[in-house]
Amino acid sequence: MGGLAQTDVHHVRRPDFDGEGPGLGRSHYAPHETPLHGEVYKARSEVGAVVHVHPKHALLCSVTGVEFTPIFGGYSPGLARIAILGVPTYHRAATIIDPDMAAEMIEVMGDRNVVLLRGHGIATTGPTVQAATSVALQFENLCEIMWQVALTGRKPMEIAQVDKDRYDPRKEQVVFPASRDWQGMRRAEGAGDGEEGGMGWRGWVQRVEGTVGLPSEQLDEDG
Ligand SMILES: [Zn+2]
Repeated sequence: MGGLAQTDVHHVRRPDFDGEGPGLGRSHYAPHETPLHGEVYKARSEVGAVVHVHPKHALLCSVTGVEFTPIFGGYSPGLARIAILGVPTYHRAATIIDPDMAAEMIEVMGDRNVVLLRGHGIATTGPTVQAATSVALQFENLCEIMWQVALTGRKPMEIAQVDKDRYDPRKEQVVFPASRDWQGMRRAEGAGDGEEGGMGWRGWVQRVEGTVGLPSEQLDEDG
């Protein structure tokens, strides 16, 4: 396999959490960073999907120590929630190819659905692939904004406590009538959170369809 850009549906195998399973051989083998995924599934039974990627703005924020100050609310509640909760950061820059490093990362992550890997990338979790992907897209969007703020050289203004409380998922939420709860409707359709501004799974699929297209679903069983 030659990396994600060359990966198609026929490359997909179903290894277990240790990277072993049927249809594996010289051409098809578990990714080196399988422990990053597998150890999370072993440690957290509520996790249905792990996404691990190396996005540019997350990298830039991680290596310069950009602070994720809560600076907005209504602009994007999904992004605001990540900043309000704070961003756990794992200090190791190496690829996570052994269970010991994965265990350290999981400890840093705690019960959160995102962890920043300094000098490496990010890992996100969710109940579904769509939800975990939405978190990854949201977090990279947040990193891009924080990076642009840092480039201005100006000190960002933290939002008021009352607004932090409004978007803090640990606090009592403002309840919208069902007919106006667009986020809730999209979550119910399995799109994951954070669809505002096309920043989630749905917006991403539409962009892929409109550019490179979705992959072929033809299966190839050889190892
Ligand atoms: Zn990686």
